[in-house]
Amino acid sequence: MKAIVVGSGASGATIARELSKNGLEVLILESGGNFKPFTRHISWSEPFRKLGILGSASNINKIFPPMNSIKSSPDLALFRGITTGGCTVLTCGNLVRAEEGLHHIGLKLESEFQELENLIKVETFPENRWRPLSREMFKSAIKLGLDPESTPKAVNEKKCISCGLCELGCVKGARWDSKNFIDDACAGGATIKINSPVKKVIIEKGIVKGVETGSILGKNTYKSDLVVLAAGGIGSAQILENSGIETSPHLWADVVLTMGGIFKNAKMLKEPPMVWYSKQEDYILSPYVDILSHWFHKPWRKVSINDRVGMMVKLADSEEGKVDKQGKVDKKLSPKDRDTLKKASSMASLIMKESGVKGPYIQGMYNGGHLGGTFPLEAADVKNMRSEQLPSGLWVGDLSLVPRSQGMPTMLLAAAIGLRVARKILESMPDAAK
Ligand SMILES: Cc1cc2nc3c(=O)[nH]c(=O)nc-3n(C[C@H](O)[C@H](O)[C@H](O)COP(=O)(O)OP(=O)(O)OC[C@H]3O[C@@H](n4cnc5c(N)ncnc54)[C@H](O)[C@@H]3O)c2cc1C
Ligand code: SF4
Repeated sequence: MKAIVVGSGASGATIARELSKNGLEVLILESGGNFKPFTRHISWSEPFRKLGILGSASNINKIFPPMNSIKSSPDLALFRGITTGGCTVLTCGNLVRAEEGLHHIGLKLESEFQELENLIKVETFPENRWRPLSREMFKSAIKLGLDPESTPKAVNEKKCISCGLCELGCVKGARWDSKNFIDDACAGGATIKINSPVKKVIIEKGIVKGVETGSILGKNTYKSDLVVLAAGGIGSAQILENSGIETSPHLWADVVLTMGGIFKNAKMLKEPPMVWYSKQEDYILSPYVDILSHWFHKPWRKVSINDRVGMMVKLADSEEGKVDKQGKVDKKLSPKDRDTLKKASSMASLIMKESGVKGPYIQGMYNGGHLGGTFPLEAADVKNMRSEQLPSGLWVGDLSLVPRSQGMPTMLLAAAIGLRVARKILESMPDAAK
């Protein structure tokens, strides 16, 4: 039985690993190239940044090709990893159980969360390695009644050199990413083809026959008995649309807004980002130097990286956004999003103020990198993890299935969804092994 898995991120890698472990012949098609971390020291960019030569955030892929940006409205940019490992190679390494809106449709992922946490190994980053200012801000958050806690991380503290650049790839291999699962899948017989963007699924008489890929290098078709889309909230939606299957206008992105303050020699890049977090109803707060705002946001230009302090707000945003056949995304901040961000960012500024961080507290760029909701599960789909709308042999296995925004790190959720879908595939085909 031949299976094509589209995408090698948190979901795709987990699915490929599980299917190949159980005897299926798996081909992973990945749109991007092999991932390489950003290796230059960040200080090279300072003179260019101060002069504004780096331009806008859409230039990120000139500096760091694996990171792709899409402007979804005049003031919102969405980021994703188009490379082996997908977004997992760009994460801060946070690994938490996010499950907003899932119990409501009858989906409980505890056993998948547990299994994956055991595999990936979760630990918090030791407090004695936090920057003094992060410790101070943690104390202020306690005083303000925000119940902060150390962030569970997929980071091996012993290998970590505290370079702070997790989102540009980990040169030390200290932070887990889904390439580990791809390696397991390949050890089990799977193959991966990079630079192979899938355009559409080939469907004949309601049955899946394979996929078509296309790039400037030309078109290709790959035959298979089943296809699992795990190209992320935007990528999977685009492929579905091109295959004649309508997607939902409910894209969410967990919008991030970082408030910036100033503290001489804070050197916040000398720890991994987001060492602690505070969970509030619709958002989290966490210490974070926003590199994108540092590089590209004009109002942040005057402050050096050593003195820049950031407090992130990650919002569970309104699920309102649509992806089209070309991959263009239309998504704006709703009035409710703007209201919550305003409240949350005053709290972020207050934590900094209470910790001796100087103003002016200036907001960074609105951006989002947790992408889901474009093919959401309904309660009736949960039993088989599959919508009846899909033709025979086609599955969706990523955050596209998750109906609600999370306002929380989503990598573990993406992997857990992938694992559940992979097991449902195996269950539905008891004789699937080759
Ligand atoms: C900068 C950043 C930091 C983050 N930090 C954290 C964090 O610390 N903790 C956390 O839990 N979450 C974090 N996230 C979110 C998390 O990484 C993602 O939600 C999760 O990895 C999504 O998994 P996925 O499999 O759905 O999609 P992705 O990981 O995006 O994988 C999709 C894959 O499909 C490929 N693809 C896309 N289109 C096609 C196509 N047409 N054909 C073939 N392949 C295609 C892509 O190249 C990619 O490899 C972060 C995200 C970003 C952007
Ligand atoms: S801070 Fe640690 S985990 Fe993050 S990129 Fe640097 S070495 Fe890797």
